[in-house]
Amino acid sequence: MKIRSPIVSVLGHVDHGKTTLLDYIRGSTIADKEAGGITQHIGATEIPNDTIEEICGNFISRLTIKDLIPGLFFIDTPGHAAFTSLRKRGGALADLAVLIVDINDGFKPQTFEALNILKMYRTPFIVVANKIDMLFGWETHEGASFKESFEQQAQSVKQDLDTKVYEIVGTLHKEGFQSERFDRVSDFASQISIIPISARSGEGIIEVLAMLLGLAQEYLTEQLEINEDAPAKGTVLEIKEEVGLGLTIDSIIYDGVLRTNDEIALMTSSNEVLTTKIRSILRPLPLEEMRDSKKKFRKFDEVVAAAGIKIAAPNLDDVVSGSPLRVLSDNENVEEEILKEIEDITISTEDE
Ligand code: GDP
Repeated sequence: MKIRSPIVSVLGHVDHGKTTLLDYIRGSTIADKEAGGITQHIGATEIPNDTIEEICGNFISRLTIKDLIPGLFFIDTPGHAAFTSLRKRGGALADLAVLIVDINDGFKPQTFEALNILKMYRTPFIVVANKIDMLFGWETHEGASFKESFEQQAQSVKQDLDTKVYEIVGTLHKEGFQSERFDRVSDFASQISIIPISARSGEGIIEVLAMLLGLAQEYLTEQLEINEDAPAKGTVLEIKEEVGLGLTIDSIIYDGVLRTNDEIALMTSSNEVLTTKIRSILRPLPLEEMRDSKKKFRKFDEVVAAAGIKIAAPNLDDVVSGSPLRVLSDNENVEEEILKEIEDITISTEDE
């Protein structure tokens, strides 16, 4: 048994800062070359453990999970059209979520929509109250922890922040969730943590990463166990035409192993199961190599979960984004499993 990285998705209303948050996490870790930086996947970014330790230091020293999981695996495509349908179809893809709310704007339709999806799939999540740098009188401390920056703010600014955090607490309460500013949470099992951040200045990001590790430790250790020899399971993010490759599918693999020449089963837009044979498995070339080469991808004979990959294979025309992906194996009825999964999805979508 191996423990894979928890898959994290960032959800929230348009313009509340999903992209900026992911960019900050990517940027600050790329700059941190000595600690190992990040690993680029198709449709995802993985922050290795040593990088998280470098950034979070004392904040995670008591968490034993940091020695077990390889890192945190962030899905890159918030708000993407395919991802919106994916959220409806396979919201359970993410093990953990970050629900982002503009602290000055509060909950908006897509924030509620995202919250309902998290509710439906019982996904553990944190709430980040973003754009604290826009609070009147806020003094920015680039890259600082929330705690450190907050202590240096004027009294009126602190009060303003707390008033706005309590508006979020009130809204979450109406939606059936107990919540509290993260540093006042007494029981992590029953209360959702709200972390005030600025995705632009990076204030509070330390606590976001530390809290995600804490949630993983609390809820996920069993769920993250994977069998490295088992046939792969994944979800299709997107179907894409690539020069020289034809139609390809971008997919997140969350369990097992996937190999070139594996037969896989996928779902079509008319809810039928299609099978095809993998011609190649591709990952992005590291940035340094991409500069000297016309190629964008590197081929792999096999990948183990968690992985974000591009698959080249024949007959992909009718595959639908959000489709389950399964490797066909002798001892399982994969087709039935996929149809069952589609059925489950349809039912839970109708339940909304
Ligand atoms: P998305 O639609 O949720 O991905 O939102 P974006 O990340 O694209 O952000 C929307 C706008 O808000 C952009 O102009 C960002 O620069 C800005 N923004 C995001 N986070 C912050 C923040 O923490 N502080 C400030 N001042 N602006 C932010």
